[in-house]
Amino acid sequence: MNLQGVGIGRGLAIGPVLRMPDPLPEPTDSVRETAGDVEKVRVAGALAAAAADIRLRGQRAGGAAQDVLDAQAFMAEDPTLKDDVDTRIDGGKTAERAVFEAFAAFRDLLLSMGGYMGERATDLNDVSQRVVAHLQGVAAPGVPTPDYPFVLIARDLAPADTALLDLDKVLALVTSDGGPTSHTAILAREKSIVAVVGAPDALKLPDGEIVIVDATSGLVTAAPSDEQRAAAEAALVARANATVVPVGPGALADGTPVPLLANLGSADGALDAIAKGAEGVGLFRTEFLFLDSTTAPTVDEQQEKYTQLLAAFAGKKVVVRALDAGADKPLSFLNDEPEENPALGLRGLRALRANEPILRDQLTALANADAATSADLWVMAPMVSTVEETRYFTALAHELGLKTAGVMVEVPAAALLADRILKDADFASIGTNDLTQYTLAADRLLGSVASFQDPWHPAVLRLVGEVGRAGALLGKPVGICGEAAADPALAVVLVGLGATTLSMSPAALADVRAELALYTLEQAKEFAELALSANSAVEARAAVADAASTLTTTTLIESE
Ligand code: PEP
Ligand code: MG
Repeated sequence: MNLQGVGIGRGLAIGPVLRMPDPLPEPTDSVRETAGDVEKVRVAGALAAAAADIRLRGQRAGGAAQDVLDAQAFMAEDPTLKDDVDTRIDGGKTAERAVFEAFAAFRDLLLSMGGYMGERATDLNDVSQRVVAHLQGVAAPGVPTPDYPFVLIARDLAPADTALLDLDKVLALVTSDGGPTSHTAILAREKSIVAVVGAPDALKLPDGEIVIVDATSGLVTAAPSDEQRAAAEAALVARANATVVPVGPGALADGTPVPLLANLGSADGALDAIAKGAEGVGLFRTEFLFLDSTTAPTVDEQQEKYTQLLAAFAGKKVVVRALDAGADKPLSFLNDEPEENPALGLRGLRALRANEPILRDQLTALANADAATSADLWVMAPMVSTVEETRYFTALAHELGLKTAGVMVEVPAAALLADRILKDADFASIGTNDLTQYTLAADRLLGSVASFQDPWHPAVLRLVGEVGRAGALLGKPVGICGEAAADPALAVVLVGLGATTLSMSPAALADVRAELALYTLEQAKEFAELALSANSAVEARAAVADAASTLTTTTLIESE
């Protein structure tokens, strides 16, 4: 069986699949038919088994993850909790229901305490699910942790699950949902995980089936023939032995500089980004630092994290984005009301504005970190749609001592009025992931509309061109920080449309640098015109590929 999805990056992997179990449903509140004492003994066994499992996972993971998992094991062993479960069993509940209710009550208690305890509260859901899984004799939810390398199959992953993947074990990731710009895909690219997303039949693969995952083609080959397997293994060896491309500043063939920057979600990736030749940071996604927090981070806590980042990039440009909460990255302290269409709701700057003290704290922490370090700090607001929002954000950032304040262009309205928005902003950075989602009206999380989620679409490119033109007229920088910048051929087109910098996950830097070096600015502009005049993303990609191969052939003939 072959599955077609959308590949992330250009990696290749081969190995047995393991499917991520779905979360367990809430145990029903049915009448208990077993004796209470029997239920209590079952619960004691399940709590001990869950604690032992969690501890073992911690030992395997080591580092900070081990501390978190040890703390979870202690929760499972908490005698007060066991007493509460027993009391509920005495009151007539089944073991499963009593565990569910006691953990939920404990979680609510921690939440009401706030601070560190509050932040650990959500861990209790995971522990509770594990105990119930033991009671029911089914697989524990969450990412499986076998002691052999495997290809992880999932419907989709929460950002926190992706961030915690054990990269020594997870050979590749295949999801049935999620488009190429979902945050699962972004984190996979950032961590150089071989990934294919939006492969509809992925969940039908049986555990243990050997697959070849080819991100370049987006193809997952199940039960490969001996020849297919041998070819994939040979390709893996060839890649491992390939010589490393030298790093240097990004530039076109005619010397036009195109600074290549890194997209980061924490300061931990800084050294790796620098080693791969990042000339600075073009997008620091601050919300990734606080995905698990139930309370807003303090100024001191944030200042420490930002200082760590800026110190790693002394003398270099670092663009930090204010918290982009909402849709697939909800932060419980910013998005408290459920919404029918969260991508169109109180997201990004809208959510920050509704909670201005949190925005002020973040900008203050950034200004303090800036004062303590020597990086060139730029700040920007996510999901800006109007000139008025631009004025609000840049004025507030300047008031709080940040000298360079800009906006992300992710909503078509902002692209269409870029000439006015850029009068009030020091720079613009185009988020092509959301710009594509909103232009094509295609949810970036939904596998069924992944084919619409293509930044090569001429409508998206036309909007990018609007921003590029406005930037050139007003002398304001225009960066690209969506996944489009990581596609080497598209990167050249984006420069032709007026992008002055490109920011991407560090894993993509080498390929993009090499591609830019092949073409002059004039040629990049010609490619951009070709893509703009196409009728679809597929046509645009093909037209540019054609023109590029004609150019390469001509250059080869001329040099003979
Ligand atoms: C984007 O939308 O292109 C972007 C860079 O922001 P994010 O992917 O974090 O929404
Ligand atoms: Mg975005």
